[in-house]
Amino acid sequence: MAAALGSSASAQTTTPQSGTMAPGGSTYTSSPVIRKVRCVTACASRKRLRGGSTARIEGRYLSGVTKVTFHGSVGRRDDRRVAVKPGTSTRRLSVPVPLSAVSGPVSVNVSKTVKSRRSRSVKILPAPEIEPNPVLSVVPGTGQAGAPKLETATSRTKFYFAGSNVRFAWRVTHPSPVNVTVDLIRTDGSVAHTWNPGAAQPGQTQSLLWRGTLAGAQAPPGRYSFRLNAASASGARTRSSTTAPVDSRDAFDLLPHIFPVRGRHNFGQRGARFGSGRSGHSHQGQDIMAKCGTRMVAARGGKVRAKGYQSSAGNYLVITGSRSGQDYAYMHLTEPSAFDRGDKVLTGQRIGTVGDTGNARGCHLHFELWRKPGWYNGGRPFNPLPALRDWDSYS
Ligand SMILES: [Zn+2]
Repeated sequence: MAAALGSSASAQTTTPQSGTMAPGGSTYTSSPVIRKVRCVTACASRKRLRGGSTARIEGRYLSGVTKVTFHGSVGRRDDRRVAVKPGTSTRRLSVPVPLSAVSGPVSVNVSKTVKSRRSRSVKILPAPEIEPNPVLSVVPGTGQAGAPKLETATSRTKFYFAGSNVRFAWRVTHPSPVNVTVDLIRTDGSVAHTWNPGAAQPGQTQSLLWRGTLAGAQAPPGRYSFRLNAASASGARTRSSTTAPVDSRDAFDLLPHIFPVRGRHNFGQRGARFGSGRSGHSHQGQDIMAKCGTRMVAARGGKVRAKGYQSSAGNYLVITGSRSGQDYAYMHLTEPSAFDRGDKVLTGQRIGTVGDTGNARGCHLHFELWRKPGWYNGGRPFNPLPALRDWDSYS
């Protein structure tokens, strides 16, 4: 009897139909099911996935999915999560594969509790390195006969949001002025933005600068590329690239943060974790162990909210991140930071060195992340370790 009850109860909770009413009136949401994960764009050879590809997940009950996790192979440190917009198809879902994703199972979440099981391990090859193109160089000709000859350049292959920017330059060779547009291409090959600089005078170099925002908000991190489109007065067209950014000309990576300790480091033992016991309170951050004097930089640029010295924090600095909605706190610095309250700081800018001022056992950076509205201003600290591991993997 108990066994029969048990099995019918589990059948009810694991295989409900989408949107059916449960006894008592609440609505079930069916757990999504992954059947297959395949590569659709920017694939490696033989349609295999790599960082920067677009994957298609096939299965059931996929329309409400809001998050895809690439689990990788070693614990949580190589997990990569991608937020997705709920789609209309219950059977398929497209998702960009993060550049630093590695082989392993994939799972999807509708909400915190409604999620799929992990898929079988999916092989993911590394994303190719970007070929730098910092000075104007000729685009190999693939345009129509009589089309303008193009030269392009992109100032850098990697830039940090709120820290630097990227400049795209071009020059056309043609007997008469040429109408040009510049597309910003996303990882999946779609167009994120188009600039209309108008007519290009033959032989003149023109350029534009992008700071990593789209419609006033931070653009999602990932690989992008610039594409120059040109049309002559007679209608002959050409463009500077035809492939997705993962291996196209004039590609670059937009990164949201940089790892704050610029030298050898580790995340210490259990006591270094967020939430571990301290006398009278719990640890509000993650400790990053490194030699005293190791260079420390702003993980995210923004504005200095607080700076000071306190008996347990030692020399500390708190930066409100530009458009990130978070506060970043750095403690035990060897010397007071050169930055003061109200100063603007760029991502990656040196803010001090790792020290052991205040109540610190051994040299380390005590690092905290706070949700809006921030540090001792109504916000709450949260575990920064997953974010730190992510930043550490690419910077
Ligand atoms: Zn600490």
